Amino acid sequence: MFSITNPFNQTFLSEYQYFTDNQAISYCEISKKTFTTWSVATLANRLKFIKNLIYTLSKHKDDLAKQCTLEMGKPIKQAVAEVEKCISLCEYYMDNAPDFLSRKTIKTDGAESFVTYEPLGVILGVMPWNFPYWQVFRFAIPSIIAGNTVVVKHASNVAGCAIRIEELFTEAGFPDGVYKNLLISGKQVNTIIDLPYVKGVSLTGSEKAGAAVAAKAGENIKKSLLELGGSNAFIVLKDADIEKAVATAVTARMQNTGQSCIAGKRFLVHKSVYDTFVDRFKTEVQDLKLGNPMDEDVYIGPLARIDLAKEVEEQVVKSVEMGAKIIIGGKRDNAFYTPTIMTNITTEMPVFKEEVFGPVAPIIPFDTFEEAVALSNNSEFGLGVTVFTEDIEGIKQKLHLFEEGAVFINALVKSDLALPFGGVKKSGYGRELAENGIKEFVNVKTVYIK
Ligand code: NDP
Repeated sequence: MFSITNPFNQTFLSEYQYFTDNQAISYCEISKKTFTTWSVATLANRLKFIKNLIYTLSKHKDDLAKQCTLEMGKPIKQAVAEVEKCISLCEYYMDNAPDFLSRKTIKTDGAESFVTYEPLGVILGVMPWNFPYWQVFRFAIPSIIAGNTVVVKHASNVAGCAIRIEELFTEAGFPDGVYKNLLISGKQVNTIIDLPYVKGVSLTGSEKAGAAVAAKAGENIKKSLLELGGSNAFIVLKDADIEKAVATAVTARMQNTGQSCIAGKRFLVHKSVYDTFVDRFKTEVQDLKLGNPMDEDVYIGPLARIDLAKEVEEQVVKSVEMGAKIIIGGKRDNAFYTPTIMTNITTEMPVFKEEVFGPVAPIIPFDTFEEAVALSNNSEFGLGVTVFTEDIEGIKQKLHLFEEGAVFINALVKSDLALPFGGVKKSGYGRELAENGIKEFVNVKTVYIK
């Protein structure tokens, strides 16, 4: 039995009982059975259900957003935007899946050769709380359209959102078993990965959870996809448009109250514009409204759980003990953590070295471009980097220097439906979204005719 409390005011929301292993397996069996019909349904038929899902998502947009705000404290406007992004994702794959999944002819010395893309079976998703709808949809929609069925173990602190997602699929008329919510603990995930008909697993979350799930998948010789943490650098070169850079930096670091894997987390600023950047950044951050996430004008809500806020506090306190200076913020009140700007940073401090999952911005000056690249790459993670500069052509020649899954120039790193999304190093492997995303859990079948 576990209970969920509202991180805004610590009031009790609901109580749940994890499924027993047998109960979870019986759900997976339904998914296995449904795979036999879903996998051979025409693509056009599968897409009809996705169209219904767009309708149900739109119909329930506001109550879905409210559930998310209650359970993990996302400011309500951002929660609505998250549901809207799920709708856009469904629309994107409705438009593009027929092309992505069509047979591809390849010229060889045979009379004919081509590849087809076939579903694999039941795919397990292990999902986090920070974007409780978006992360699930990003995994489930392309997998389901490709003909797989999915079972999802969502983060325990958003169990209500998890149940709502399954209800959406039911209301949209999907056959039972195309999407199943497994109310299980992290420990029970191994039992699901061991099931012979579960053919792959996709996890978004911490390194620790990722390593555990990938090890189990490896033991079973099953495909895994990991979307883990990040500590993206946000580089401001001396020729950058500072006003735009500051405005973008605030969103990059502070949206979703800093709880995003692709957030800008280390701000590297050329020394000639450093003071200006720090001053303006401070002014803009001071203006962000912190408070009840149900209020439309609140931008900074509580962190999703008190333990997560304490972790952020600890990272900041340790960094201060090592010599960092707090310009503004640095205060915790239950699950709230005030937007924080820090200077006097060294590469050994937790706020530089570790992923900080909260509204904390360390700013570090640099002298040369080479120094900025070295600082940017001085991380175990490799999800993405932002570079602000007016010399776009110049940066385009230097993309290979960044050890990252993505380079965004004059923009914050974001997940764009049409662009592959994923990391290198300890940020994980595999790609979601775009054409790459729908081909992660398929059998790329080669056909050769002499
Ligand atoms: P976790 O990685 O623990 O949670 C993510 C998901 O993995 C949840 O569904 C969780 O279930 C599950 N899980 C946890 N441990 C295991 C395991 N051993 N085997 C299988 N599944 C497991 O994240 P936390 O909520 O503890 O957050 C800790 C940190 O992780 C954050 O501060 C942040 O740095 C990072 N994180 C990164 C995210 C990203 O987007 N890349 C998203 C969320 C967190 P349950 O909730 O039941 O424990």
